[in-house]
Amino acid sequence: MTDLLIRNTAAIVTGLPGAAARHAGPDIRLRQGRITALGQLTPEPGETILDATDCVAYPAWVNTHHHLFQSLLKGDPLGLNATLTPWLTAIPYRYRAAFDADLFRLAARIGLVELALSGCGTVADHNYLYAPGLDFDTSAILFEEAAALGLRFVLLRGGQTRSRQVESTLPQALRPETPEAYLADIQRLAAAYHDPAPDAWRKVAVAPTTPLHAVHPQELDLFAAEARRLGLRLHSHLSETVSYQDAAQDMHGTTPIRFCADHGWLGPDVSFAHLVKLDPEEIRLLGQTHTGIAHCPQSNGRLGSGIAPVLALEAAGAQISIGVDGAASNEAADMLSETHAAWLMQRARNGEAARPHCRGGQGEAQAAAAPTVEDVVRWGSAGGADLLGLTGLGRLAVGQAADIALYRLDQPCHLGLHDPAIGPVAGGKATLKRLLVGGKTVVEDGRIPGLDLAQLSHQARAGVTQLRQGAAG
Ligand SMILES: [Zn+2]
Repeated sequence: MTDLLIRNTAAIVTGLPGAAARHAGPDIRLRQGRITALGQLTPEPGETILDATDCVAYPAWVNTHHHLFQSLLKGDPLGLNATLTPWLTAIPYRYRAAFDADLFRLAARIGLVELALSGCGTVADHNYLYAPGLDFDTSAILFEEAAALGLRFVLLRGGQTRSRQVESTLPQALRPETPEAYLADIQRLAAAYHDPAPDAWRKVAVAPTTPLHAVHPQELDLFAAEARRLGLRLHSHLSETVSYQDAAQDMHGTTPIRFCADHGWLGPDVSFAHLVKLDPEEIRLLGQTHTGIAHCPQSNGRLGSGIAPVLALEAAGAQISIGVDGAASNEAADMLSETHAAWLMQRARNGEAARPHCRGGQGEAQAAAAPTVEDVVRWGSAGGADLLGLTGLGRLAVGQAADIALYRLDQPCHLGLHDPAIGPVAGGKATLKRLLVGGKTVVEDGRIPGLDLAQLSHQARAGVTQLRQGAAG
């Protein structure tokens, strides 16, 4: 690990709130994988200089919700224009029994490479490829692939103890696990991989795939108690579309959030992907308990689910983070296009709700309120890190881990920018000069050293063919 002085950045966005969201810099000093100083710094003997002229520094992104196995399931016509429930049957559930160890590893590698090239340093993957008799260890493969690239990895250990109605028509549905087997594997994974440190490289969370459909209600209490005993966090999908509201009402006579509250599934150690469809009482409950959201705007748009009320959640007290979700519902699963979408869609949501003065509303001003680019950077970095228990990273500040994305602003969309700091999020694209994770180089000048992208492309094409044959068989 090199002692590094990043010199002469054009701008630094810190991931901190309020006035601290920008640091004048222009230099950042790294020692032993940590940030030790920011400001106008003089080079010291023995340190390597990284010239960041015309570059913008962000905290490396923290992606809080993904399904890496879906990286080989992009753009299947059967699911491209579908909504959530038919899409689940047509794509991820139809294909998941067709994966073998090699295809799963290839998919994980593709997704992790795409994320790294977008400036992401920490990936939380909601993996639900588990079933009795599965002859490969998907958890181990994910940890291995993330480590090989030099990324931090959080396993959101999904899975199900009951079959969903939507799977009943599938010829190759994966069989559910028993709750005993699920808990035994959580204990195995916690012992093998979970590091409670705030700047850990590996963590594990308890994450049955959905609270309403994947497990029996009493198991939610059981799994939450075991997670808290082991010091693990809780995660799941929730309220992605209106179908969750119908299901909670039909099955339990309540709302999805109230149902989770009744089973110990709200709190600062709990996060849910999506949370698109919420009533005001649900927003209040999520806020009061400081429950987290992994906001996935591109997937929510692609599946026609809606736009999550992120600003209302944050105002109520909920924790906000950004996830790309799986590539089967978001063909551009990278953190720059995702944060770009979050910025635009939240502002559009404000505008959609605006009413003119003549009809008793607040007029156009309501639409312009938020979020700022700095808000979105904070959600995608410090917000995600805190939600995963990684409070030692996610900010460009002294004492934090040196997880830093340095972007060049030489794409045509950046030429003419008056404020370079906003470029990567406002433009939705930028080339990395360097991605550092724990002070170590992961991406250099838009490339991952040692990665043969042509070979990966060839393997991906062969993988798609194999999966299509496997799912048809
Ligand atoms: Zn998901």
